[in-house]
Amino acid sequence: MELKLSELKSKEGQFVSIDERTSLDTISFHNDELEVVDDLVVTGGATFTSEEEVINVSIDFSTNVIEHCRRCLEPIETKIDRHEEIEFRPNMESEVTSEGDLSIYRYESGSGTIDLLPYIIRFLKLDLDPYPLCKEDCKGLCPKCGANLNKEEDHSCETEEEGEAKDPRMEKLAELL
Ligand SMILES: [Zn+2]
Ligand SMILES: [Zn+2]
Repeated sequence: MELKLSELKSKEGQFVSIDERTSLDTISFHNDELEVVDDLVVTGGATFTSEEEVINVSIDFSTNVIEHCRRCLEPIETKIDRHEEIEFRPNMESEVTSEGDLSIYRYESGSGTIDLLPYIIRFLKLDLDPYPLCKEDCKGLCPKCGANLNKEEDHSCETEEEGEAKDPRMEKLAELL
């Protein structure tokens, strides 16, 4: 997923196409390791402009990430399909800035390559939900036994608790106290 600056510079002003796929396995997101089930597919291209040594990157990328419902832990597949316009400018004062929808990053003009992957992963995370739910009214898990309450409509551990209180041994103990 690397832009070769020598190639871009030799084709100054031309659109150099990008057509790559790679396997990510997992990505870290909010202290979680999320499974990435499909290859990350990246298409588009980059153009180097000798004036100001700006590199313009226009890419589409897609993959599938598995998140887990925060309440019941069931897997949720999130399809990622984004288009991004990224600009790299050499020796910019700040590391990142933006102009409208355009994200602008600094690059070292002396460097040989720019790895696009960390930028793509950063954008990809914008499509992920830090509090994913399998459905709006997910009932979650029973706090006592961990049963999925979406699958067991009449589930109740409270009745069992009442039953415990009526345990004859407990009554004996209560008498002693
Ligand atoms: Zn759920
Ligand atoms: Zn339960």
